[in-house]
Amino acid sequence: MTRAAGSGARRTSCPRCALPVLRQLVGRRAALDVTADDTRYTAAAAAALRTPDRLDWCVRTTKDGPDLRWADCHRRSAPCQHEHVVDHMCTAPQVPARPAAQRRTHRTTPVPTGQLTL
Ligand SMILES: [Zn+2]
Repeated sequence: MTRAAGSGARRTSCPRCALPVLRQLVGRRAALDVTADDTRYTAAAAAALRTPDRLDWCVRTTKDGPDLRWADCHRRSAPCQHEHVVDHMCTAPQVPARPAAQRRTHRTTPVPTGQLTL
């Protein structure tokens, strides 16, 4: 069994909502920076929570702690016996990535100036 160097999930908390999350780069080539809720589900429950924007991850417990894997176990016929976690969906208020009105977009005025009071 080969593992990428430094793999294994890191227990941390979301910088925005402070919920406990697991962070890990999952995958050997195109690694995904995963932030998952530190809540364990059965494979079936995690699959039910799964959406195109929210993946679930198969958790293997190694001597170094939890290790997240792609949940390709759903494709197998036998149900996965491992615990699963799902991507963290942050509930903290979204901070705008860039300040609004920083860039002036040309916008046509709906009413010409001077006709507003009639
Ligand atoms: Zn969060």
